[in-house]
Amino acid sequence: MSAESAVLPTRTALQDRLKTWARAHRVRWEMTRHFEIVHDRKTQVGFDLTLSAPRPAGCDGDPGCLECARTHEEMGRIAVSLLPPGTQYDVEPFDGSFHLGDCDEPELLLTVEILADAREPELADCSGRRTLALVEAGLRCLEIRQKSTPPVRSGR
Ligand SMILES: [Zn+2]
Repeated sequence: MSAESAVLPTRTALQDRLKTWARAHRVRWEMTRHFEIVHDRKTQVGFDLTLSAPRPAGCDGDPGCLECARTHEEMGRIAVSLLPPGTQYDVEPFDGSFHLGDCDEPELLLTVEILADAREPELADCSGRRTLALVEAGLRCLEIRQKSTPPVRSGR
């Protein structure tokens, strides 16, 4: 095997592949505010981007099956590909379970915590900032639809 012969996909080719995959797997997204307890106070520290996909066609009914794990992994690839360089984030591990989506359809969820840092501290208390705008633009580019749940609301 020769590493030299390996051709890295261009960004566009990767986007095309992710877009095709997302469409085939009916991936949708939602963004919610992410809270943690800081000094005994519930404090927003960023946002959670959650991608969801109905139970994959190849699934044998077990949410812990290989096909479900692959679906979760690919959604993680999509989510991370949307984050601007330098973004501080955490991909939540696969929980190996179905969640009830619209019409009680079982679906898999992938959540990425997008965390505020020195680069963009305003992620911690507001919505509609640069990172979120870029992520949402990326989702539109991949033609991934937003879930019907209410979007992120501005702070009180
Ligand atoms: Zn499965």
